[in-house]
Amino acid sequence: MNRNYIAGEWVASAAGAANINPSNTNDVVGDFARASVGEAEAAIAAAYDAFPAWSRSGIQQRHDILKKIGDEIIARKDELGHLLSREEGKTLPEGIGEVTRAGQIFQFFAGETLRLAGDKLASVRPNVDVEITREPIGVVGLITPWNFPIAIPAWKIAPALAYGNCVVFKPAELVPGSAHALAEIIARAGVPAGVFNLVMGKGSVVGEALLKSPKIAAISFTGSVATGRKVAQACIESNPMKKMQLEMGGKNPMVVLDDADMKVAVECAVNGAFFSTGQRCTASSRLIVTDGIHDRFVDAVTERLKGLVVDDALKAGTHIGPVVDQSQLDQDLSYVRLGREEGAKLAFGGELLNRATPGFYLSPALFTDVDNGMRIAREEIFGPVATVTRVKSYDEALSAANDTPFGLSAGICTTSLKYASHFKRNSEAGMVMVNLPTAGVDYHVPFGGRKGSSYGPREQGRYAEEFYTTVKTAYSFDGA
Ligand code: ADP
Repeated sequence: MNRNYIAGEWVASAAGAANINPSNTNDVVGDFARASVGEAEAAIAAAYDAFPAWSRSGIQQRHDILKKIGDEIIARKDELGHLLSREEGKTLPEGIGEVTRAGQIFQFFAGETLRLAGDKLASVRPNVDVEITREPIGVVGLITPWNFPIAIPAWKIAPALAYGNCVVFKPAELVPGSAHALAEIIARAGVPAGVFNLVMGKGSVVGEALLKSPKIAAISFTGSVATGRKVAQACIESNPMKKMQLEMGGKNPMVVLDDADMKVAVECAVNGAFFSTGQRCTASSRLIVTDGIHDRFVDAVTERLKGLVVDDALKAGTHIGPVVDQSQLDQDLSYVRLGREEGAKLAFGGELLNRATPGFYLSPALFTDVDNGMRIAREEIFGPVATVTRVKSYDEALSAANDTPFGLSAGICTTSLKYASHFKRNSEAGMVMVNLPTAGVDYHVPFGGRKGSSYGPREQGRYAEEFYTTVKTAYSFDGA
């Protein structure tokens, strides 16, 4: 498995690294490649050389390849879900769900290959026609994070290929197993040599090689704000400048109003904040709750948390798997300490747990008495840690919800049409949820945010064409 997929061949890598199961650190999932700059450059060159032919390939061919990839992913969802949960730590049902979604994304973009449309208009000049078409952009570098090891790669690779681009894919260091399995499926589906390449390795080596290469036309990145900023700078400094799409953090508010259905509100909060171990950029990490329901809501959430099982991701009955690795666990624990120092009250959890196997087990942490200005309410923690902020009114809730450097997802639990409608219109987030968790989105509609969360065109759904194509405006005079 210690290999990369370059120019249609599986090539042994000069170096490798162990992939460790966060539910059981004695379990090594495998040894996976750590590519060098040279290997990354070979992949980029292969993609560059493959582009002219692939960009002119027929849409039926692209459709069939993408459909085949999607079908195989779905047919093998249990096995791939097991691998994903083993290397990343989300529960097996969550892992299988993510794999299913990845397959659906490929199937969706298989259809999209047949639907790419343009415009034909009359010119303002007589006897001249104007045609507006979309063309592929070239070689795209895809840099992905560890928290969705197959879905995020799928929602970048599928549209990239659908619209005729060539791909160099660099997955996150922590989850090479799912990336490798996905690449095997893609390789078998009939993609011509060089059109799709997998180079596994470090951000500072492989990632930076992609950012530096003049042969890469565009970068789609999902990860932290700090790295996103570096990616953006590198894209601007490169010659020619690269098109870029950045999906970064979130600090997503979930407003709970007095008139909320308590059962719905508790489920939204618990699912949104703590499932997938809170390691989602759309996690409901800020619960903003009005006075009249606050105490009952906190009691009900705490009761629900007491009943959740934190354990091995692969064990039946586990609700919350481990944190992904030691450094993420250290970050979570440092925020739990910080919350106390800032004067918030730890109402539940935030403790290391011992289980049958050594792993990064942390009980879900709920802070109350949180002022929206505290660092635990402003900075993305990326773990099973949520804050509760008490507010007096809907207006105060809305302004706290929007008072954040981020703007990915925002939710409200209410039975009032008036407040739900107002919140949908006035939330400064890219995605708004009413009586639903802030996390958990459909695969056929746009995904993305505002402010510090995102930069560039949306991902997913037909909106993905905005990033993965470039527009050409052609004029023709009929000579009359
Ligand atoms: P996280 O680890 O929280 O997902 P990062 O932003 O560190 O967030 O990582 C996201 C992706 O960006 C990973 O694939 C990582 O290897 C890559 N990466 C990290 N540093 C760089 C860099 N300097 N240049 C390009 N890619 C990078």
